[in-house]
Amino acid sequence: MSRYAFLAAIVLATGIFIFDTLTPLNIAVAVLYVAVVLLSLNFTNRRGTLLVGAGCMGLTILSFAITHSADFEAGATARGLFSLAAIGVTTFLALRLASTITVIADSEQRYRSIFRAAGVAILEMDFSPLKARLEALRAEGFTSVAAIARERPDLVGEVTGLMRLINANDRTLTMFRAPTLAVFAQRLPSLIPPEIAPSTWRLLEAIWSEQSSFETESVFDTVDGKRLNVLYTVAMPTDRPALDRVLVSFMDVTARHQAENDLHQAQAELAHVSRVATLGELTVSIAHEVNQPLAGVVTNGEAGLRWLRRPEPDLAEVSAAIERMIADARRASEVIKRLRALASKAVPQAAPVDVNELVHDTLGVVQREIAGHQVSLKLALADGLPPALGDRVQLQQVLINLIVNAIQAMAATGTTQRDLTIRSRPTDTGLSVEITDTGPGFSSDAAAKLFTPFFTTKDEGMGMGLPICRSIVEAHGGNLRAHLLAEGGAAFEFNLPAHTETQL
Ligand code: ADP
Repeated sequence: MSRYAFLAAIVLATGIFIFDTLTPLNIAVAVLYVAVVLLSLNFTNRRGTLLVGAGCMGLTILSFAITHSADFEAGATARGLFSLAAIGVTTFLALRLASTITVIADSEQRYRSIFRAAGVAILEMDFSPLKARLEALRAEGFTSVAAIARERPDLVGEVTGLMRLINANDRTLTMFRAPTLAVFAQRLPSLIPPEIAPSTWRLLEAIWSEQSSFETESVFDTVDGKRLNVLYTVAMPTDRPALDRVLVSFMDVTARHQAENDLHQAQAELAHVSRVATLGELTVSIAHEVNQPLAGVVTNGEAGLRWLRRPEPDLAEVSAAIERMIADARRASEVIKRLRALASKAVPQAAPVDVNELVHDTLGVVQREIAGHQVSLKLALADGLPPALGDRVQLQQVLINLIVNAIQAMAATGTTQRDLTIRSRPTDTGLSVEITDTGPGFSSDAAAKLFTPFFTTKDEGMGMGLPICRSIVEAHGGNLRAHLLAEGGAAFEFNLPAHTETQL
């Protein structure tokens, strides 16, 4: 390109010079040199353009000298001066243009190198067909993306076909394990799994409401079939409403997700260990709870046998004994059922939980612990409590831990006034449960550490109960706090958000 421009400039300059020198016409032919100056932008730098401008002026003067050396004519001189001024002004403007071009080229170069070498995957995409499709739906009378989702749910499947890849940087190819840009462009539609539909609807919503950017976490597949967790951002410049150039960037957060999963797994394991430890503390109560009905089964079985072995068996007594045996066996199995969930390692499930009912169920597990330590139980459970959303077993673990702690605190001091109160009440956002005792409370020093892992004041304590309770409650979107009561004793209160139908 620059070579042709250089040749063209030489030919043009020569032609103008010959024509200017030989023409008998009274016109300012030399003005045409401005074209040579402009052409020079294509093959030289600023200094070169300045030289070309000066050269053209020189040729104009030379030509004037050749043709008008003998006679002086005012018109010709004016034309010559006019040409010189035009060439001068054009050279000046061309120099300004050249520096602007340099700045733009530099910035383009910088952008290109950032684009290519960025540690983040960046894609240049053309969303204009998608934008046009949404505008067509708007023209059809749709007023929101929610309405489109209801009436045209298939649109989400069309979206990939309505986006065009313009370019992608090297990081994109590494991230998606594509050997070349062409392979990536060809495979891109198949790398978008169907389960990202909800985030695609949100992207459509962002385009519909003309937002300038959109960010979400999602999953994508790589060319070699691996699953990636990515954080992707779509920058939609508001000065290009057709969305013909949109920047999409991807950050691979798979490792972070893995770490989070590992952490959850570790927390779940720890919670399980602590539940089993709590059950260990309750062994005596549990053994008694199960033993009693089992002893009943044996006694009633023996009685039944005696009634059967009489010379004249009393069948009515036998059947009464068998019925008592069945009732006892049912009681034992009830107790075991209640405990099995606590000892199990089940994955946490989210379901609506009636917290008052859960308190009653939990009391079944700790009943003997309460009675065994001469604790008097007061229940103040509010009517009309909204359900919480969460894992029953985990929430029960919180209740058991707080109740057992309260009982242990009161038992440790030997006070005779041992009141355990469990209160539930609705709050603005959901519900709260408070467990208070009349124990010794805790020192201000201990107050700061209560929820710190391994903080314990008990000889056999593990110090994991309260931290686990707090992490369970927080994972349910609530919070757990402790405070001292003015009349003595401690209170532990947790809040949980109410479950609404749309959450599940
Ligand atoms: P652990 O019961 O194994 O000590 P926790 O995390 O459940 O572990 O409790 C940590 C500490 O918090 C206890 O050792 C005790 O000092 C204090 N604590 C917990 N509950 C109460 C309570 N109801 N009254 C007074 N102190 C309490």
